[in-house]
Amino acid sequence: MASLLIKGGRVIDPATRTDAALDLLLVDGRVAERRPTGQGKAAVPPGTRVLDASGRWVCPGLVDMHVHLREPGQEHKETIETGTRAAAAGGFTSIACMPNTTPWNDGLSVTEYIVAEARRKGVVRVFPIGCVSKSGEGKELAEIGDMARSGVVAVSDDGRPVGNTYLLRMAMEYTKIFDIPLIDHCEDKDLSAGGVMHEGYVSTLLGLQGMPGAAEEVAVASDLAVAGLTGGRLHLAHLSTRGSLEKVRQAKREGLRVTCEVTPHHLVLTDQAVAESEFDPNTKMNPPLRREEDRRALIEGLRDGTIDAIASDHAPHHMDEKLQEFDEAPFGIIGLETSVPLILDRFVRTGIIQPARFVELMSVNPSGILGIGKGTLAVGADADVTLIDPELERPVDVAQFRSKSRNCPFHGWTLRGWPVATVVGGRLVHELQTAAIR
Ligand SMILES: [Zn+2]
Repeated sequence: MASLLIKGGRVIDPATRTDAALDLLLVDGRVAERRPTGQGKAAVPPGTRVLDASGRWVCPGLVDMHVHLREPGQEHKETIETGTRAAAAGGFTSIACMPNTTPWNDGLSVTEYIVAEARRKGVVRVFPIGCVSKSGEGKELAEIGDMARSGVVAVSDDGRPVGNTYLLRMAMEYTKIFDIPLIDHCEDKDLSAGGVMHEGYVSTLLGLQGMPGAAEEVAVASDLAVAGLTGGRLHLAHLSTRGSLEKVRQAKREGLRVTCEVTPHHLVLTDQAVAESEFDPNTKMNPPLRREEDRRALIEGLRDGTIDAIASDHAPHHMDEKLQEFDEAPFGIIGLETSVPLILDRFVRTGIIQPARFVELMSVNPSGILGIGKGTLAVGADADVTLIDPELERPVDVAQFRSKSRNCPFHGWTLRGWPVATVVGGRLVHELQTAAIR
């Protein structure tokens, strides 16, 4: 098997408390050797390809734990092949895919299809997430045991909340047996019904029906109570309000087994974007973009450790679906190819978080929550590596995206700090051609 030497980069591997100039030798899909750059030569096997990483960060492969790949059933939006290509281009070596496909991934047959198709056509590693309930309908439990045995790394009805607290309790008792997390989309549907954006000053101004922050917070509080009751592992997806974070912070203090994620768009945009873009449907997502004070609270959560992971909630939609009237358009935006530059440009470059914390949020922690054994470049670890050029400045151009969809509100933004090479199992699966750009 091929070997690869990544030379002269800044290795940022918080799992081994490393932040140093190291050469990294990858052999047979594993990290074989790490050696300080310039100190002697590694015993490099003949035919080893050399990747010059000078001026670049060498990070454990990034993990996006919240992706909608749309296959099976909605291949006009995305496929496992195109979604994993988008992931590789965005610097991700592992992604977890949500079960709201057609049909939903609520049993063995869909799980096995995704695993097999990812093996055939996937460019990065794909970890399926199974349903909590059959067809995500919140009535009967899905075949959680069967799915866990065939490779799902978590369960969720994402796209919808579990809602029914009795079912949630049963599901958490079950997931405890398999030691997998239950991921919930927190939304009280009675409170949010009919809403298309955050309920507040801007929605009133625009005359659009709102979804109050309380719709999320009620569900967070309810989920935390059930988690406390069962002792199961709860992961809260895409939190968006200050109140939600305060509840999680408190639950963590009390020792509950709870983790949470935020998306780059909730960290970067507010409900003002709906007005400023004059109703661009690419500012419509669920949970909706919130107030500035919520955004600031999320940023504080990045700093103080309340937030465990950053996840894209990559939600591809076909242009014909997305470019309807704001009221009619489906919720969601794609994010695999913009997450890393947004976080680097807005939060790492500005010193709000350190590079090691960035790696924790986008690799170490999501890997740990899902139990997939990634998130480190220790000798012997899987040779999944993301190379980042922290100085590279370029515009977001949806025309260049690998994703099948284009529903992205960041087109035309110039961002500094981009993933430039992605290595999965020791194999270079994506390399950004930057010569023309620099
Ligand atoms: Zn969701």
